[in-house]
Amino acid sequence: LAAECARVAGLVGDEAEAWDLAGELPEKILDELGARGLLCAQVPATYGGLGFSSRDNGELTAFTGSLCSSLRSVMTSQGMAAWTVQRLGDAAQRRHFLPRLTAGARAAVGFSEPGAGSDLSTMDTEIRLDGDSVVLDGQKVWMTAAAYADLLVIVGRFGADGAAVVVPRTAPGVTVEPVADPLGCRAAGHADVRLDQVRLPVDHLLGGGGQPLSLLVTTALAYGRMSVAWGCAGIVRACRDAAVRHARGRVQFGVPLAEHQLVARHLAELLVAEQIATRACEHASDCWDRGSPEQVVATVLAKHVSAARAAEAASTAVQVLASAGARDGHVVARAHRDAKLMELIEGSTEICQLILAGHALATVS
Ligand code: FAD
Repeated sequence: LAAECARVAGLVGDEAEAWDLAGELPEKILDELGARGLLCAQVPATYGGLGFSSRDNGELTAFTGSLCSSLRSVMTSQGMAAWTVQRLGDAAQRRHFLPRLTAGARAAVGFSEPGAGSDLSTMDTEIRLDGDSVVLDGQKVWMTAAAYADLLVIVGRFGADGAAVVVPRTAPGVTVEPVADPLGCRAAGHADVRLDQVRLPVDHLLGGGGQPLSLLVTTALAYGRMSVAWGCAGIVRACRDAAVRHARGRVQFGVPLAEHQLVARHLAELLVAEQIATRACEHASDCWDRGSPEQVVATVLAKHVSAARAAEAASTAVQVLASAGARDGHVVARAHRDAKLMELIEGSTEICQLILAGHALATVS
């Protein structure tokens, strides 16, 4: 893990700010990380992956998130695509697609549509069989990493049920339109995708299709939530470090900022945020690694706690740095914009709260 983190650090260097301002990640970096399986490190070695535990993959994700949330978002999408293939694909599909993903083919996952955000049961994209082909028609929005992707994992309706299809980006009928000027994670390659009579061999339909839509969504989102949770722990760590360093060095009223008690309180709360986010992520990942039935709730809880702590920590860090951090691209300014988006995705704050409330209602007699 230390070697993999060092490799990520070496590749990112101090470029994250420039990537954020340009709204783009260099293909070279994605190629290098992809070819080493680092964009989806949890894929088992049988399929050419690094076989990381959820916990180690989480630490790698947090480390990447502490440097660059856009790159971490690409990692989340790739891991979510791989997890979806692993869970829903048959043996031949796993053998075909997973080694491509661990060797550097890039992937994005599409659920959201113009009319289907938090309520994915209303999605309209149609997936149907036609002879030896599977045909897709519809529209997906805000697909993270789609602008860089070779493969698009598309979830849609399949008769009364659901299905997921691996769609090559170059397939006739696929149009990828980058989202202009996103608030945060600006280099994450968000894009809207149109699927116009996209016809593919039926072996692109994962597991033959016909799974309940809610199962498809929950399966893919579980990985996404775990990954976003760790990414947010990384944002908190970056905010804590930036605030502590600044408060130690900057002198106002004759003493370092850290010696003003109101500033010291901010540093204490940043430490608390980092510890809470990390512990929630560690607990959820341990549930994944043990195959505990608590995994689903622990993952939602980790995502909720970590995203909320990241948004708070980013705001606090901007406060401590003040004008020194009030510049687009600065680590705390990026954190401020990126963390807010993490409260919206993979189950917004409110959707996580509804799931957790349901759990509370079901468990207290
Ligand atoms: P809405 O569903 O319209 O919700 C608006 C507000 O109402 C939110 O605050 C929500 O919490 C609240 N709300 C909705 N329903 C309820 C309720 N029942 N009770 C209480 N409050 C409620 N989609 C993909 O498919 N793939 C991706 O890779 C992807 N990446 C994304 C990356 C970013 C940075 C962003 C911003 C979005 C991404 N999305 C992606 C889309 C994302 O999943 C949706 O934005 C998210 O599900 C929320 O949907 P919405 O934006 O339509 O908001």
